Amino acid sequence: MILDKFSLKGKVAIVTGSNTGLGQGICKAYVEAGAKVVGVSRRPSDETAAICGKNFYNVIADLSSCDVIPKVIDETLKKFGKIDILVNNAGIIKRQDSIEFSEEDWDSVLNVNLKTVFFLTQAVAQQFLKQNSGGKIINIASMLSYQGGIRVPSYTASKSAIKGVTMTLANEWAKYGINVNGIAPGYMATNNTQNLRQDEERSADILARIPAGRWGTPEDLQGAAVFLASEASNYVNGFTLAVDGGWLGR
Ligand code: NAP
Repeated sequence: MILDKFSLKGKVAIVTGSNTGLGQGICKAYVEAGAKVVGVSRRPSDETAAICGKNFYNVIADLSSCDVIPKVIDETLKKFGKIDILVNNAGIIKRQDSIEFSEEDWDSVLNVNLKTVFFLTQAVAQQFLKQNSGGKIINIASMLSYQGGIRVPSYTASKSAIKGVTMTLANEWAKYGINVNGIAPGYMATNNTQNLRQDEERSADILARIPAGRWGTPEDLQGAAVFLASEASNYVNGFTLAVDGGWLGR
């Protein structure tokens, strides 16, 4: 039956950035859909654990370095025995005029949003091959995978790159039954956009351009996240799906 194809029953998912915002919403959706979830966060994901219950396990890891990748894989396998789904959600943004943007703000964003994402994805895909299981990779992209943005050059670089790498990996790994796709959230009300929402002028400009007439919420992303993690999307490869209240169509 078609709705059964959306079920994540028996699946094991890793979701990075699980303590808050979109990552927390994805953890909740996956547990509701039947999965066991390993949330990776640099601070404890206590609130997410309370929401998700016994099918959630928290691994503490700072994803600004690739050194933590073996720990993430090992702890997931120790706890739940396999990996079926990876959601690369953790990400940071630095806002500054490009004319004086610092090397530090360039490197820190590229490390978390791109380098660690690539090498964690590689490690998980190696595990999928070991398991002979196929699997699902979902990269959280952005409107700035499609557009330039303002005062966020390293973020735009990382999110444009992640959309491209999503296609590269899909091209190489579709033959193994590994689906690599992206989700490009629009303007969502989370910590990531707190400064933007506090800037009255920018906030009003953004809101006026969103056809849906409101900022998105973590709940808005849940349907796409479950779809791309489930059997229902087995023939979707290398695509970055916008969940943006119509922003890109404007
Ligand atoms: P958020 O509330 O700031 O969440 C970002 C998450 O990433 C947090 O859990 C954060 O942990 C984690 N993180 C950051 N650096 C990390 C590190 N070094 N190691 C481990 N975890 C780290 O914002 P969000 O909106 O939910 O963002 C989730 C994803 O969506 C990001 O990739 C973001 O770029 C993307 N996105 C957001 C929007 C939006 O409008 N909100 C739009 C497009 C794309 P801490 O809480 O410890 O910082």
